[in-house]
Formats: sequence, structure tokens, C-alpha cells
Amino acid sequence: MSARELEGKVALVTGGSRGIGKAIATSLAEGGARVAVIARDGARASAAAAELPGTGHAGFSCDVADSAGVQSTLAAVEERIGPVDILVNNAGITRDNLLIRMKDEEFDEVIAANLKGAFNFTRAVARGMMKRRDGSILNITSVVGLIGNAGQANYAASKAGLVGLTKSVARELASRGVRCNAIAPGFITTDMTGDLNEKQVEELRGRIPLGDLGTPADVAGAARFLVGPSARYITGQVLAVDGGMAM
Ligand code: NAP
Repeated sequence: MSARELEGKVALVTGGSRGIGKAIATSLAEGGARVAVIARDGARASAAAAELPGTGHAGFSCDVADSAGVQSTLAAVEERIGPVDILVNNAGITRDNLLIRMKDEEFDEVIAANLKGAFNFTRAVARGMMKRRDGSILNITSVVGLIGNAGQANYAASKAGLVGLTKSVARELASRGVRCNAIAPGFITTDMTGDLNEKQVEELRGRIPLGDLGTPADVAGAARFLVGPSARYITGQVLAVDGGMAM
């Protein structure tokens, strides 16, 4: 990977205001990309964009589950920064519950943010990418979408859905020069996993061959590779970044 292999590219990272998304935004900016940071909390998105290395970044408030809002946000990004070359669908939420206690809203909200949100942004950027015959889309799924998890039927279903979305988009857009891949992180230390107590973390470590949770930077390194020119011949793949959990 050259030091500035993403020079001249515009990247849009959903959920880029903290955690894994912020690490990915940072890594793409280090590669030379100008980055649009998307989150519902626009002030936090703008603050995260201001912290990125280099210039030309900006933050935008948008709920990825709102398809009209996604269209208008993309228009605002293109006007302010330029046409999007790299899309990272990273925004995601959990609403964990045991299956028989899970409420309709808990299921629907997770599918809307995690799966429909990725569809909304993918559909929105696809036309421009196809026209320019260049583009790279990366979906952040989860190891849970591959192997399941008790108490996360909604979340696992949304993440397994992202795998199908990734492979379908890869097949549909390949002839137009657009690639689509996914990363399936294992357990990564962020706000999302912040509620785990020490006993749960210890138990998790025992299930991870490499013996520890990962960091947002571990995911960001793989993301920068997959969206960049070194991965030009890779599409439709799901790369687990999980310390060996799901092999
Ligand atoms: P996080 O720290 O909770 O950050 C989530 C980000 O997504 C925030 O920027 C949040 O900002 C944004 N977001 C949430 N819902 C949104 C919506 N409807 N529209 C727009 N932005 C939204 O999460 P994380 O741990 O970094 O996780 C990032 C991704 O990695 C998620 O897709 C998650 O499922 C996946 N993942 C995480 C782990 C892990 O162990 N942490 C493991 C596997 C996969 P606002 O709240 O301001 O909207």
C-alpha cells in the first residue's frame, strides 16, 4: 500500500463519528481521501471530520434508515466535497433481547438502520459510480451474521442480510467497474461493546484464538486495503477481522 494511494478520492463513511467508523475515516484520510462523515448527531460528525488528517473533510447529519434523507445528504456531500468514489456502510445499532421477549420495534429498528441503511446509501451512490465506471463499496457486517448469537436474532439477521447485499451488488455492478466487499469484525472495543463486564470479556477472550478483543484500528487497516487499488481484483468477499473466531 503506497502512502497516499487514495489521493483525489472522495469517501463517505456512515457512522463515522466514533468507534470503528471513525477509525476507518481516519485511515482513509491518511491514505489521501477527502471524507464525508455521516451520523445522526451532526455536531459529532462535524467534530470527527475536523479531527481527520488533511483537508477537505466534512460532517453531515443523516439517519441512514431514511431513504429521502440519504438522497438529500448525498447531494449535499457531492456539492461540498465531490462525487463519492468510496462508500463505507458502517452505521449500525444493537437492540439485544431474547427471541421470545423481542419487540417488533427492536427487530424493525435494527433491520432499518443496519440493512436498509446500507441499501439506501448503496442505491444512492450506484448510479454515479456506474457512470464513472469506478467505485468501491464496503459493508461492515459482523461475525455474528456468519455464526449467529443468542440474544441478537435481529442484529444477526441484519448482518447476514448485509452479506447477501454485498454479494448481489458485487455481481450486479462488477461489469461497470464497481467493487463491493464486506468486513465481518469479531468483538472490537468500542461504545457498542462498552457494556460488557470484565467477566464477559474474559469469557470472550477464551473463544478468540488470538486471545483478545480487537481495536477499531484493526478493522480500519483491512478497510483501507479493501477499498483501495491494492484490492482491484477483489469483489464479493467477506473478510473476517475477528482474531480467528469464525474460521
Ligand atoms: P458505535 O461505537 O456504537 O458507533 C456507531 C456509529 O453509527 C456512530 O457514529 C453513530 O452515530 C452511527 N449511527 C448509528 N445509527 C445510525 C443511523 N441510523 N444513521 C446514521 N448513523 C448512525 O459502533 P461501533 O462498535 O463502532 O460499530 C460500527 C459498526 O461495526 C456497526 O455496524 C457494528 O454493527 C459493526 N460491528 C461492531 C463490532 C464491535 O464489536 N464493536 C463487531 C462487529 C461489527 P449517531 O449515534 O450520532 O447516529
